[in-house]
Amino acid sequence: MLDKVLIANRGEIALRVLRACAEVGIKTVAVHSSADSNLKHVLLADETVCIGPPPSQNSYLNMPAIIAAAEVTDSVAIHPGYGFLSENADFAERVEESGFVFIGPKSETIKLMGDKVSAIQTMKKAGVPCVTGSDGPLTDDMQRNGELAKNLRYPVIIKAAGGGGGRGMRIVHSEASLFNAISITKTEALSAFGNEEVYMEKFLEHPRHVEFQILADNHGNAIHLGERDCSMQRRHQKVVEESPAPGITLEQRNAIGEMCVQACLEIGYCGAGTFEFLYQGGEFFFIEMNTRIQVEHPVTEMVTGIDIVKAQLKIAANEPLDLKQKDVRWSGHAVECRINAEDPKTFLPSPGTVNLWHAPGGPGIRVDSHVYSGYLVPPHYDSLIAKIIAHGENRGCTIARMNNALNEIVVDGIKTNISLHQEIFQHSAFKIGGTDINYLEKRLGLK
Ligand code: ADP
Repeated sequence: MLDKVLIANRGEIALRVLRACAEVGIKTVAVHSSADSNLKHVLLADETVCIGPPPSQNSYLNMPAIIAAAEVTDSVAIHPGYGFLSENADFAERVEESGFVFIGPKSETIKLMGDKVSAIQTMKKAGVPCVTGSDGPLTDDMQRNGELAKNLRYPVIIKAAGGGGGRGMRIVHSEASLFNAISITKTEALSAFGNEEVYMEKFLEHPRHVEFQILADNHGNAIHLGERDCSMQRRHQKVVEESPAPGITLEQRNAIGEMCVQACLEIGYCGAGTFEFLYQGGEFFFIEMNTRIQVEHPVTEMVTGIDIVKAQLKIAANEPLDLKQKDVRWSGHAVECRINAEDPKTFLPSPGTVNLWHAPGGPGIRVDSHVYSGYLVPPHYDSLIAKIIAHGENRGCTIARMNNALNEIVVDGIKTNISLHQEIFQHSAFKIGGTDINYLEKRLGLK
């Protein structure tokens, strides 16, 4: 096993990684900004290093500072969590070149999948169905772009090749706005992602977001852990996730899961990863691959009993997967609510001191959170403060448990979106399951 892991992240995911390391006897190093010295995982880590001032650019995105921290602490590996540098191929390469293990796939794989155009081209070659689109980056030939959109039939969506986090996308309903949409998305993509390349896809009007979790080792083994439904979204950002996806049959799971496994083997993928699909009319269409642990990984852990973070650590230590596909079993249903420090109506962030924190409990309830009474939520970072995960023998039981948890939790001192979750869990359409990606925004009157 790895001797010492540096956790290059903050918040709940840093704590999640620390817990997994501690469980298997790996020493931990927490790097943090000067605003984060009171983070729970920083208080619990074996060693800590302050890597810079609060702005992420100077701390959690500061590659030389993180690598220097790994050097002075004699760490052997770096876990990037999600967000920040987790899908930065340049960082993975620098980590590798400095003699550390990057807990994730090889930097070339991150590069290949990080560019959505090359990811789609690679997946197509591997036989994975994709949304019909431009089959490559758009050129400045507007006549050709116009013809392409006409052939795809409006609406189409212009997407940044380097996009992420729900940003860098623009829907186009007619030829009149195509030219502007392409040039605005390009400009935005250049400033946000440093890459102005954009591509075009058919805009699917009523899809669900269904993604598959995979694990692959360095010894030619890969397995899938089934799917998650992440259709409950606002501004392309996931709010509630669940596994299994309502209405997806075991045959569909096996077929798509196996396709993802084959694609992993073909590209020599190594580590945990997620294939994201849009699901419409009974068909799956690949949109992108995430080469890191995801926020919503716990729902898969709850239904499979497999610890994905521990699997990442083992894979990074060059151990073969100890599971075969036939060993993977799914039991019951799991749902996750992302609790954010934000106003439930305006969605504006609500940083500040949590005067009182009381976590819910009871059968089948898991809480992944770094918050405690007296903790100050800093204004500099993502507003996610907790993930509540409910697991039960079936979807009805799981929803009932989540309702209990949402009634029990107390977060005093800052605003949260708990009331939004309570409302979602009362909706009859949600109770039935299988709502599409537009559902929440329509309910909120945003569409
Ligand atoms: P990001 O990397 O920013 O998360 P994705 O490509 O994964 O971007 O897309 C995020 C979300 O945007 C999807 O879950 C879906 O809601 C919407 N989306 C993306 N592509 C399409 C499409 N072709 N048609 C309809 N919706 C789309």
